[in-house]
Amino acid sequence: MNRRNLDIDRRCRRLKEGQRGQGPVVYWISRDQRADDNWALLWAQQEAMVRQKALVVVFCLIPEYLGATSNHYTFMLRGLTGVQKKLQKLHIPFFLLEQSPVEALPCFLRQIDAHVLVSDFDPLRMKRQWQKQLIEEVAVPFYEVDAHNIIPAWFVSEKKEYAAYTLRPKINRLRDNFLTDIPPVQKHPFEWNLNATGFNSSSFSALTSDRDSTGKGKLPSGEAEAQLAADLFVDSGLAKYPASRNNPCVQGQSGLSPYLHFGNLSAQRLAWMVSKSELPVEDKAPFLEELIVRRELSDNFCLYEPGYDSFAGFPEWARKTLDLHRDDKREYIYTFQDLEAGNTHERLWNACQVDLVQNGKLHGYLRMYWAKKILEWTSVPEAALEYAILLNDRYSLDGRDPNGYAGVAWAIGGVHDRAWKERPVFGKIRYMNEVGCRRKFDVDGYIASVYNGDKQR
Ligand SMILES: Cc1cc2nc3c(=O)[nH]c(=O)nc-3n(C[C@H](O)[C@H](O)[C@H](O)COP(=O)(O)OP(=O)(O)OC[C@H]3O[C@@H](n4cnc5c(N)ncnc54)[C@H](O)[C@@H]3O)c2cc1C
Repeated sequence: MNRRNLDIDRRCRRLKEGQRGQGPVVYWISRDQRADDNWALLWAQQEAMVRQKALVVVFCLIPEYLGATSNHYTFMLRGLTGVQKKLQKLHIPFFLLEQSPVEALPCFLRQIDAHVLVSDFDPLRMKRQWQKQLIEEVAVPFYEVDAHNIIPAWFVSEKKEYAAYTLRPKINRLRDNFLTDIPPVQKHPFEWNLNATGFNSSSFSALTSDRDSTGKGKLPSGEAEAQLAADLFVDSGLAKYPASRNNPCVQGQSGLSPYLHFGNLSAQRLAWMVSKSELPVEDKAPFLEELIVRRELSDNFCLYEPGYDSFAGFPEWARKTLDLHRDDKREYIYTFQDLEAGNTHERLWNACQVDLVQNGKLHGYLRMYWAKKILEWTSVPEAALEYAILLNDRYSLDGRDPNGYAGVAWAIGGVHDRAWKERPVFGKIRYMNEVGCRRKFDVDGYIASVYNGDKQR
């Protein structure tokens, strides 16, 4: 690979010019935790090949990340152990630095006289703050590659989209061009003398066994597991998806969101597999709508809406209607602790909360109902938003994700939705309740399955 590949280059943008050192190209891996199907790694490798440099990958581990628990860390570290092993075989050393990127990277880059720094794209505040600080503090050129979206988020749209119907045509115009197969990462031909730097990398396996003590990480993590789950879904779940995805009593969704969230699985690989499947187009379209349009709409929201997790991030009509109904009498008001313990008057809601806590996941349809009841049962919309985000980020394995912030903002603040019939507390925000759920699925069967511990996943 000594000529530049346009398909790789168009997914990258330069964040900062700088002085190239003599050492390796450095990929700071963060959101896209995989060795295969990773455009950021491919771009870094292309850059290293063209410049005849070694390539190293660095992960910066911090003890606290947006309320992540030991379940999240265990899932993540197990996945990263696999990435490290795979990269080792490709002559790409992988460093684990136990500090925040702004503390660790400037020093690391200086010490190895790095050639350039590459990061993967993430629209969330913390990563963008880190990037901003790194732009100030590092001397080398700094690039960013969108390895998470099929069409780079900054390229598909330059502004905050109003709803799916405004983003969809933009995606559709570019989709065939960007939804391609992904080339493999190569065995890297330029090696680097690790010992010369004296840099110590922590061991993933030591950290994983430390964190295993909670014993709760049920879903196996890592690229291989993610690919297996994706293959299984495309072979036997995809055909049923249109009819059964809204029924929490059957395994109708793919269940792939934790793998997509941690980057164990590339959304583009999954979309490519689905688009190549022999099923009729109408069977594949609903899944591709969620995986591409809805998912990329969430990244668009978080990229262009600084208040993606606050009342200020709601559309004007929604803020207005929620303000008008601020003083409406609430029949029930619960504290955060009541909600967290699943201690409300509604059995279905309590079962959802227990399901979330026990299994690290709530069905997509129930997530909507669950968040809307939090709006109904808290004193102000700001508290509802705060509690829903806290619970989602703490208990959901796929939490702390743009999909989560957009999903909660949709349910509580009308983001990407429209005004509905006005009613108390909700104003014109779309309403949902248990009666509606009963029309869709066997509510009592779902509740029983949660408490009997025999939920189908
Ligand atoms: C209140 C609320 C909170 C949510 N929190 C999260 C979260 O923390 N993390 C998360 O990944 N998703 C979240 N979602 C979106 C959606 O519910 C999940 O992505 C989906 O249920 C994940 O299960 P799955 O992988 O089986 O989905 P599938 O139905 O199999 O869909 C495949 C993939 O498409 C994407 N997708 C599906 N539905 C949506 C959607 N509505 N918006 C954006 N992308 C979607 C996801 O990447 C998903 O993994 C939330 C939605 C709501 C209403």
